[in-house]
Amino acid sequence: MTKKSYFISIFPEIFETALRIGITKKALINKIVDFETINPISFLKDKERLDDVPFGGGPGMLMKANPLVDAIDFCKAKAEKKTKVIYVSPQGKLFDQSLSKELANEKELIFLCGRYEGIDNRVLDSRVDLEISLGNFVLSGGELAALAIHDSICRHYEGFLGDQKSLVEETFVNNLLEYPQFTKPRQSEYGKVPEVLLSGDHKKISNWRKKQALGKTFLNRRDLIERSKLKSEDIEILEEFLSELGYDSDRIIDLLNEIR
Ligand code: SAH
Repeated sequence: MTKKSYFISIFPEIFETALRIGITKKALINKIVDFETINPISFLKDKERLDDVPFGGGPGMLMKANPLVDAIDFCKAKAEKKTKVIYVSPQGKLFDQSLSKELANEKELIFLCGRYEGIDNRVLDSRVDLEISLGNFVLSGGELAALAIHDSICRHYEGFLGDQKSLVEETFVNNLLEYPQFTKPRQSEYGKVPEVLLSGDHKKISNWRKKQALGKTFLNRRDLIERSKLKSEDIEILEEFLSELGYDSDRIIDLLNEIR
């Protein structure tokens, strides 16, 4: 079953360029995904402008409601009835891996990309189902956010990835970052591949990976560690990780107390 996305944007060429390469190009050829770009400018009448100044004053211009609503309705008429309209915006719910997985269940999605200072709020009130943010920063337009969100959703589609198992061990699964990985050569000017990965001992390899994943998550993303209830054996593994990194035992106790 092909999954289709509609991108409403005044810069459709961004999607044409970004999606017709690499793994998405392959998925388009194999009909796993499909996409269509819709330029709201084509819904303007005569010499009407797409943007105008905000009522009440303030800097910049806003995208007017009617061309955006017309563009959305055009997509909705083509798509299945219950298709969700997503407005990508810094004011939306923060996008994450679980929302990505949830949205991958939808057969079709409509992405609305803002520009300038954003859009007339009546579009949100009357047509938008979900407002989603890529992160706590402001972009100049919604295109890169929509592409990033779409790319992440695609990874969940059956047949999109070369090996579906990639999804199981990936970063953010179980609130952990992925373990470090290495490929050929075994030894180079940049260092050696950890001995354990060459051992062929699957149990040892999986223990090592668990330790590295826990350790990296602890160092870089304490917020994820705090969310995932660690078992006492995980704490022991972390202790080992930190001691191998050269932390002294008092420091390790202090650090681990912060997450207990
Ligand atoms: N004045 C607005 C920001 C407008 S940025 C405000 O203060 O909220 C212009 C457009 O870029 C927005 O309409 C939105 O579609 C997009 N955009 C900016 N930051 C984004 C983010 N973090 N996530 C998703 N879309 C974003």
